[in-house]
Amino acid sequence: MQDFIDQAKKNGVTLLDKGRCQFCGANYQKGIFDCMDNYNNGLQLLDFNNSEHHISRFLSVDAHALQHPEIHGRWSNHFHLTRLNLIIDKKQTWDYKKSPLLSDYLNDYKQNRPNEFLAVPEPLDRGKITAKDLTKATTADECIELIKKWADSVYQAWTANHLLVSQIADGFIERCYVRKTTNR
Ligand SMILES: [Zn+2]
Repeated sequence: MQDFIDQAKKNGVTLLDKGRCQFCGANYQKGIFDCMDNYNNGLQLLDFNNSEHHISRFLSVDAHALQHPEIHGRWSNHFHLTRLNLIIDKKQTWDYKKSPLLSDYLNDYKQNRPNEFLAVPEPLDRGKITAKDLTKATTADECIELIKKWADSVYQAWTANHLLVSQIADGFIERCYVRKTTNR
């Protein structure tokens, strides 16, 4: 938990511990602190031993992170929005091996771009669905559907950056493809 408090400090953001989450608007009592503590509650219907459920995990992590960019480093936004672009727009399959590859790609990418920032949507304007809504699901399928909608609504809230992350995603796919073919 200390991590996100430190990161908010670095970003000059005061964290509020009463009422709704100040970032995503989820209806809690202790604001962002409840939002972080309860995030996993909405995922309990999913079985992460089942690889078919992994995609929901990635989408939920991305959606939650992009609703709370003030408590992450700025390059996290690039990572999570690019991953959403790859999954939602480019229909790429995703698995646990690909995430570190994308991180590596972004580590190289950011070297020449010290001044590149994504345009962050205003707080409370980052998608209509929140992690708290997932607790309404009564079956795993409902939960999966809600996560899809959640990720999609967050992705749309970041539309101003779609062109940029789409280019990053293309570069990433190209690198993966080149690696695969040269490894043959
Ligand atoms: Zn929140």
